[in-house]
Amino acid sequence: MKILKSPGKYLQGRDLLEHFAEYTQGIGDRFLVILSANGMKRTGAVLKRSVQNTEITLDFAEFAGECTRAKIEAYARRCKESSITAVVGIGGGKILDTAKGVAHFAEIPVVIVPTVCSTDSPCSSLSVMYDEQGVFDAYLFLDTCPDIVMVDTGVIARAPSRFLAAGMGDAMATWFEARACLRSGSPNQVGGLPTIAGTELAALCWKYLQENGLAAKLAAERGVCTAALENIIEVNTYLSSVGFESGGLAAAHGIQKGCTAIPELHRVLHGELVAFCTIVQLVLENAPRAELLSVLDFCKSVGLPVCFSDMGYQPEADAIRACAEKACRPGSTVYHLDAALTPERVADALMAADAIGTEYTNGLFQ
Ligand SMILES: [Zn+2]
Repeated sequence: MKILKSPGKYLQGRDLLEHFAEYTQGIGDRFLVILSANGMKRTGAVLKRSVQNTEITLDFAEFAGECTRAKIEAYARRCKESSITAVVGIGGGKILDTAKGVAHFAEIPVVIVPTVCSTDSPCSSLSVMYDEQGVFDAYLFLDTCPDIVMVDTGVIARAPSRFLAAGMGDAMATWFEARACLRSGSPNQVGGLPTIAGTELAALCWKYLQENGLAAKLAAERGVCTAALENIIEVNTYLSSVGFESGGLAAAHGIQKGCTAIPELHRVLHGELVAFCTIVQLVLENAPRAELLSVLDFCKSVGLPVCFSDMGYQPEADAIRACAEKACRPGSTVYHLDAALTPERVADALMAADAIGTEYTNGLFQ
């Protein structure tokens, strides 16, 4: 069976939050709004203004810390006790994942409003839960993607540009991983084979990143919104999200998970690490040099790492070995690239990718 999953409605535009009431019409009149103290400062006033003179009431819940199962269950109880009809998550990945989980347990619709576009989580049907110390706990697989995803491009343009670049790293991997799944006949992340649409949405990620990635990063550095930035926001938030779930994941994300075994890499953003792990996947595929160079050129142009020293880390054989072992755990998506992959080959590819990225930086790999 082939399957594609996507959000019910995707909205993107400047100052969209001014019209929050209008665009969420029909999904409820009492919203639980989960956001951080900073998110409240950035969006609270405009949200309150948008529901003035309407039937809608907003209950604000201030979020801090991690997306945990306990928090999700507590908010879901609050929804039932206060007759909340829909939940809204405004912020980064942790808040959005919490809101999706709350909607799932409270059995009500969810509206997702990302304030940065550093990962491909906003449109996905997955929540990642941690403990309060930030250690991975479990995945929560949801029946559906969010009902409404609302991206205010003015808000995103004012976020630090490093987050935008990280989101581009995550989106770049989307294409190479979907292509690997197609070649090997592997399943996607929503329990079926990829449809034409799933794979093509992933391909559009790489096309638009090459065309608009650098211009978008430069616009974000100045805090301004341009057509190029608009395109990259859609790439990072929608195309990458639907593309990875419905196109499938392979070695880049499998190896990125393995890299969490290296404590020195914990301060590196998810999408930054995924960008480097895409180069590792290309080494495993023995990709043509021109393709490898196009990826290296792109990463360098937007400030994504191409070697370990770009991430402030000096590789050690034992740590790389531990990373490769973790990447090759049973059920890992690395096997979507090649069912016969071994920790030895992954460890070798990590070291080789590091060497290629280092020599590229020195001008010797071209
Ligand atoms: Zn990712």
